[in-house]
Amino acid sequence: MTFDTKSSTSPIITARETSSDKNSGSNSNPKVDAKIAYIDNVPHEIRDGETILQLVRRIHGAELVPTLCDAPNLEPFGSCRICSVDVALTENGSAKSMASCHTPVMPGSYIYPSSDRIQKLRKNIIELVLTDHPLDCLTCEVNNNCELQEVAAKVGVRKVRYPEGKNHLDREKDLSHPYMTSDMSKCINCFRCVRACEEVQGQFVLSMAGRGFDSHIVKGSEVNFFESDCVSCGACAQACPTSAISDVFESKSIVGTEKTRTICTYCGVGCNLDVATVNGKVKSIQAPYDAKVNEGHTCLKGRYAFGFYNHPDRLRTPLIRKNGELTPATWDEAYDFIADKLNAIKTDFGPDYIAGISSARCTNEENYLMQKFIRATIGTNNIDSCARVCHSPTALGMQRTFGTGAATNSVVDLKFTNLIMVIGANPTDGHPVTGAKLKQFAMKNTAIVIDPRRTEMAKYAKYHLQLRPGTNVALLNMMLYYIISEGLEDKSFIANRTEGYDDFKTKILALDIAEAEKITGVDCLLVRAAAMAYASAPNAMSFHGLGVTEHSLGTFTVMQIADLAMITGNIGRRGVGVNPLRGQNNVQGAADMGCQPHQGAGYFDVTVPEYHQKYEAFYGAKLPNYVGYKIPQMYDAALAGKLKALWLMGEDVVQTDPNTHHVKAALGKLDLLIVQEIFMTETALMADVVLPAASFLEKSGTFTNGERRIQKVQQVVEPLEGTKSDGQIMVDIMNRMGYEQTDYNAETLLEEIAQIVPFFEGVKWKELGDNGKQWPVAKDGTDTEILHITEFKRGKGKFISAEWRETSEIIKNGAEFPYIITTNRELEHYNNGTMTRRTGNVKIVTEDLLLIHPIDAERHEIKSGDMVCVISARGKVDVKAKISDEVKPGIFSSTFHFPEIAMNNITSSECDTDAMCPEYKVVACTIRKSKGKFKELV
Ligand code: SF4
Repeated sequence: MTFDTKSSTSPIITARETSSDKNSGSNSNPKVDAKIAYIDNVPHEIRDGETILQLVRRIHGAELVPTLCDAPNLEPFGSCRICSVDVALTENGSAKSMASCHTPVMPGSYIYPSSDRIQKLRKNIIELVLTDHPLDCLTCEVNNNCELQEVAAKVGVRKVRYPEGKNHLDREKDLSHPYMTSDMSKCINCFRCVRACEEVQGQFVLSMAGRGFDSHIVKGSEVNFFESDCVSCGACAQACPTSAISDVFESKSIVGTEKTRTICTYCGVGCNLDVATVNGKVKSIQAPYDAKVNEGHTCLKGRYAFGFYNHPDRLRTPLIRKNGELTPATWDEAYDFIADKLNAIKTDFGPDYIAGISSARCTNEENYLMQKFIRATIGTNNIDSCARVCHSPTALGMQRTFGTGAATNSVVDLKFTNLIMVIGANPTDGHPVTGAKLKQFAMKNTAIVIDPRRTEMAKYAKYHLQLRPGTNVALLNMMLYYIISEGLEDKSFIANRTEGYDDFKTKILALDIAEAEKITGVDCLLVRAAAMAYASAPNAMSFHGLGVTEHSLGTFTVMQIADLAMITGNIGRRGVGVNPLRGQNNVQGAADMGCQPHQGAGYFDVTVPEYHQKYEAFYGAKLPNYVGYKIPQMYDAALAGKLKALWLMGEDVVQTDPNTHHVKAALGKLDLLIVQEIFMTETALMADVVLPAASFLEKSGTFTNGERRIQKVQQVVEPLEGTKSDGQIMVDIMNRMGYEQTDYNAETLLEEIAQIVPFFEGVKWKELGDNGKQWPVAKDGTDTEILHITEFKRGKGKFISAEWRETSEIIKNGAEFPYIITTNRELEHYNNGTMTRRTGNVKIVTEDLLLIHPIDAERHEIKSGDMVCVISARGKVDVKAKISDEVKPGIFSSTFHFPEIAMNNITSSECDTDAMCPEYKVVACTIRKSKGKFKELV
């Protein structure tokens, strides 16, 4: 074999040249036409777009060609040259060394991945790298899991031939951040961290500064991690092949670790986590690269905020209230107490005086058991879940329009869409891994953001429709109006796939645009431009969040989003659809499992005789055939003396439900309040019985993410002593009350669920694999990525128009309380912070803040950092001000993660008219500077 090392005169042609030759028909080599390349003179078929590295790895596995700057979730880069291979045009002919990771395979080429020359080249590269790398392997945190160490061993480096010279070994460590660490003396300038920050997270915090020997990685403008704009996602730490960038958990260290794959407990993205344990304790979390949902990425909550699981505050024994005090009890005492009380209430008042609220934080199997307990053991349909207070309008609105209340598509469809519309969602904070993908999309493509606040997404969007809170319906009507009046509707889709269009069109065209412009506060020309962009895009996807649902017209807004998709034919294929961003990890699952008072497991209407009989036969119990209480109705019933007992599984309703005074008054009227919890919450403090539950790391089951993906939650550690999984608690109490159940077991429960929930028919624990399955899952196990491809679940999609009307909150209180406060989330915290405030996240975001526009701040003489009292018709809260033009004048926005603020003291009991989801997003209020003890905090 001979080699040609003069690249400028190399006869090797590039992939682009190959392609143009092929197009011009000039390439008559039959081997080229057959798309064959040779590895060590053995022919192999090439796949479209394949690089040399991909081809070699496909044929020979990952070991033959080592890499350093390459990573599974990053674009090929070609900087370290370790992956170099020799490539020739003829068998054993003149060859050129090429970085295989970013070089497309040329048809007909001859690839020699480990020629003598290549082996020498690789060894020399590593030797040069090691001249500027500390040789302290034995004490390094990544010893035995260091890619540099591994590659050095693989290429056979035993000593470095080069003399010691100038180096960077004296660089200082950066330990400023609660999670992220860096030791740049170990940096090998591979750019993996820079690319991870850019390509995976889209944050652009890390970059390379200096030239030549002075090249070095910087954070922001040469600040430390804590001062930079780092969002602590850990993508750089996972990408770094050494320990130059790492984290306080030393996530890449493998000493004594076992790994278990499970699912994140926080948001509805449903990221897969590889949890490393040492001696039965969680050590660190990494993101698996082969996870379809998160592809080697997480946010800081999934990766780093796990420390709550064995926090000293965890509840470890049942508690029963005696003489006004919660006192420790055994499980048997607690179960006996509960069973006696519930049986007495059933006998004295009837089963409808008992209710349960299930949890979107718990597994499908636990939610299924909770509703089964309430229905079959107690005998009432008074079962609801926290989906009520977030996405119940999504379920109802999409059921009415499409027949199924779930996302039509998957996030991977971002690769196939031309435009995204994000409405009432702040995904970079609320759904961070999906948010990072949406942000990356918005940076390069067309995005419409409909939100009262200039969110991070809005900053990158081509169209930001910054409407007044509570006017979604008016704004979407404007968009529909322009699409119809400009003739941009998809007439064929409307004719073939929908019904009710003529009436709908008449109503939309009657819209008074000038009036709608006044109501929303958004320039009609901007709305028109956005509507035309949406309607003209070959494929458009919408994503919506709680800024849509938590309104008095939430269900109607969801139906309008569905109308927009149908009127433009954006349904039933890749890159389109209506995609709710689920807040909690298992909101979808809680509803699927029947934790709602009108529909049982699988969404069958409990009032329809056929379904009622089906449930009775399946559970072997007498069930009511009328609808039970929704959560707000439970509080009203308690206050009216019509509800005596309430069982809460993992819900801190005092903190999270609106109008705290109302909730507390209702709970105070109960004879029996039972709370299953991992921590002593404000609600648990009011309970008669508190049952210590296990966290997600201590149990198995399934979560269903926002894409309908049923994924395996696998037990990582034993439950803390004294605690039990929520599922086992349900089983125990059912047995205690005479309804026999076998012990909690995810596999057997899934078998039961598959018999009653049609879209779970083919779901089997053992067949879920690492990436789960998207429902509906057919009997043969086939799952479904895209819904409504040829027809809607209800047959034809139904156009339903909606008229905007002012919320009663503004009508009743707007004159006295002329401002509107809406709520928003911070990336670092989750809901009321029960878990995240017991992790290092609390060192990053330490308090709630109220955003006030500079004009309003000046009017009230408020400066950033002042404590401000926000007053509504229900009460008042004191919160620190931050002057910001992210909100418009007249609008405030506040986070609500710290219970000290008690934001729900001021929210109202107004609800979505149809789904009864509370209207958290529109609260009439006024402000003044704080007085008394809060003033002193200034
Ligand atoms: Fe967990 Fe959501 Fe973050 Fe993923 S994006 S790691 S599911 S909180």
